[in-house]
Amino acid sequence: MRSNPADYELVAPGSLQAVVSLLAEHPGEWLPIAGGTDVMVQYGAGQLPARKLVSLWNLPELRRIEVSESEVQIGSGCTYTDLRESPVVEREFPLLASAARWTGGMANQNRGTLGGNIANASPAADSLPALLVYEADLILVSAAGERRIPYLGFHTGYRKTLLAPGELIRAVCLARRFVNYFSYARKVGPRNAQAISKICIAGLGQMAGGLVEDIRIAVGSVAPTPLRLKETERMLRGNPIDAALVSKARQTAVGEIRPIDDMRSTAAYRSAVTGNLVAEFLQRMRDRGRSA
Ligand SMILES: Cc1cc2nc3c(=O)[nH]c(=O)nc-3n(C[C@H](O)[C@H](O)[C@H](O)COP(=O)(O)OP(=O)(O)OC[C@H]3O[C@@H](n4cnc5c(N)ncnc54)[C@H](O)[C@@H]3O)c2cc1C
Repeated sequence: MRSNPADYELVAPGSLQAVVSLLAEHPGEWLPIAGGTDVMVQYGAGQLPARKLVSLWNLPELRRIEVSESEVQIGSGCTYTDLRESPVVEREFPLLASAARWTGGMANQNRGTLGGNIANASPAADSLPALLVYEADLILVSAAGERRIPYLGFHTGYRKTLLAPGELIRAVCLARRFVNYFSYARKVGPRNAQAISKICIAGLGQMAGGLVEDIRIAVGSVAPTPLRLKETERMLRGNPIDAALVSKARQTAVGEIRPIDDMRSTAAYRSAVTGNLVAEFLQRMRDRGRSA
């Protein structure tokens, strides 16, 4: 442990309004901490960017899942366990439910939050490909009020986001229109539990009359930010899934990603596996279409 607790201050004002007021009154001084599963790793390594921490943990405004006719709003303070135990998430957003099951171990799932995963902005974060294919919106909040933005584009570069100083993620909004879609998710890591992804992928698609009607593919850990494979999606739409299309999709996907060699894997492995996963997704979606 390279940090001394006596050098740090932690406050828990107990309401969202009090937290955003504190952030506005002392710009840049306070670091929000939700479940702390990323913050405490930085703390342990002596790399925390601030000495003052303001707690978001268990704020009622952030820890709820609201269901309306058109969308589901997931509070940023919901943990992976909250997501796993939510019937509407399990039923309508299985890609997010899978990501929640795959994130860390039980203790991590009881503390780690969806908002923390988004704001921490790791390209390997497991829930982010799901948010990309569901085309989530984010509600951001600060002392000045709220704004709603598409999640696509929120990560602007390696560990960079559109969050303004003093701003927090309040909720993630998911449109309720994917129930009949085919879902595909894989996490590739050195083992099934407690491993950061070498690659994670989320796929969502719909066939009509033997043709690809709608398709969305997003991959993590293959670029500085989680990536939607827009070019691959474009070339797939309107076509029947046959061997030639699968082969072309594999090549296009590999051309879209920008993987690197790092401590977890190599660029060559990430490219080969991304191509394989895109091919597997398409073959499974075609087979489901045949048996439907
Ligand atoms: C043992 C272990 C295993 C892990 N395994 C995985 C894994 O398999 N997959 C994976 O994706 N991640 C994994 N993680 C990383 C981590 O658990 C997740 O990223 C988690 O979602 C972070 O949420 P948190 O609430 O703990 O964030 P915190 O640590 O509290 O915060 C992380 C960052 O986000 C900011 N922040 C938090 N909430 C908000 C908000 N609402 N608005 C704005 N900023 C905010 C904080 O200021 C901080 O910069 C693992 C971590 C550990 C320690």
